[in-house]
Amino acid sequence: MAAFDQMKDCSIKSINNKSIMIQKNVWFIGLLLVPALALAQRPEVEGMRYLDENRRPVYRKNVVIPDVGEYQVLKCDFHMHTVFSDGHVWPNVRNQEAWQEGLDAYAVTDHVEYTPHKEDVQVNHNRGYELLKESAAMSNLILVKGAEITRNTPPGHFNAIFIGDASGSIESREAEQDRAAVMRAAEQDAFIFWNHPGWQPTIAGSYEWIPFVDDLYKNKALHGIEVINGFAFHMKALDWCIDKGLTVMGSSDIHNLVAHEYNLSEDYVHRTMTLVLAKERSAASVREALQAGRTVAWASKYLVGKEENVRALFDACVKLMPAHYTGERKNGDRINHYEIRNNSDLYFELTLKEGDATKQVVLYPRSTQQVTASEGTSSLTGEVTSAYVRSDRHLAVNFPLK
Ligand SMILES: [Zn+2]
Ligand SMILES: [Zn+2]
Repeated sequence: MAAFDQMKDCSIKSINNKSIMIQKNVWFIGLLLVPALALAQRPEVEGMRYLDENRRPVYRKNVVIPDVGEYQVLKCDFHMHTVFSDGHVWPNVRNQEAWQEGLDAYAVTDHVEYTPHKEDVQVNHNRGYELLKESAAMSNLILVKGAEITRNTPPGHFNAIFIGDASGSIESREAEQDRAAVMRAAEQDAFIFWNHPGWQPTIAGSYEWIPFVDDLYKNKALHGIEVINGFAFHMKALDWCIDKGLTVMGSSDIHNLVAHEYNLSEDYVHRTMTLVLAKERSAASVREALQAGRTVAWASKYLVGKEENVRALFDACVKLMPAHYTGERKNGDRINHYEIRNNSDLYFELTLKEGDATKQVVLYPRSTQQVTASEGTSSLTGEVTSAYVRSDRHLAVNFPLK
């Protein structure tokens, strides 16, 4: 079934690639050979006309983020659902979406204790992963095995990724089993993060650092917190991560099609994800980086994480160039002009505080802005208002001026 679906997908991709080529590269004669080859895969039939002009072009988006020092920045989503729990899609759709949206790594994390489609879909906590292994490899994507441990609130839900066998998970939702359910994953050496801690704010104590969570943390059975879940930023959780040395996670928790929930046809719109600063593009490197806490959650226009990671990411993406022009005001003051460049698909909003400098700068993805400062100003200081390093603090920046 999986192999058949993949073959079907491949042929559709090649047909669609052909139409993109025709639209964008007609002038490049060498590429005209590609559509001819793609077309050859479909037999000419007397009395048949194919109306491919209305197909949606299928291609992988390249999300450009420069390396951060020795690390690659991998685009990852470790929280999503399929029909094997309460999601609306078959697993291969998650692979197609991940590929098209430019992700590097993903995990399908179906609920262990909540399987509302069980009358129609046989309950098998390993099946989603098994169905995806080949598709992910063919798509050059890193597939991580995961499950969502779904306890009542509090404590709520936990994602276990890099698990071994999910079939022995505890399916009972009795509160007495809460600890054993999480420890079952911990015994498998899973990387465990607490999901959407603020999602049921009307339940007393639901959005607190409760003794149950503290016990997991002290027993090394809690490694991160989902600070951003879909469209919700759980701001208190960012401070918990920073104060306790837990890894900051951001994920979609998508149940429907990603394109049903996110307006992907608009510029700069992307699903919520975790940017992982990894030594290599491999599952082992993702795991190492998660354990070392080298992550930044990326949602909407916001970057959220530990200061050292957010700063390293900002410094890799944004450069202030040397002054390229010096003008003069009517009063004789000299004013320098600079370019500030964003070499990434991330989005930054800056507020600069220095005396006579430009105050507000929006750095759109892969773009340049001009800023000015009076001659003699030694540096531009300010903050990146689209980046959070605590619930109440933005990333502070300082550009020395030459
Ligand atoms: Zn959940
Ligand atoms: Zn979920």
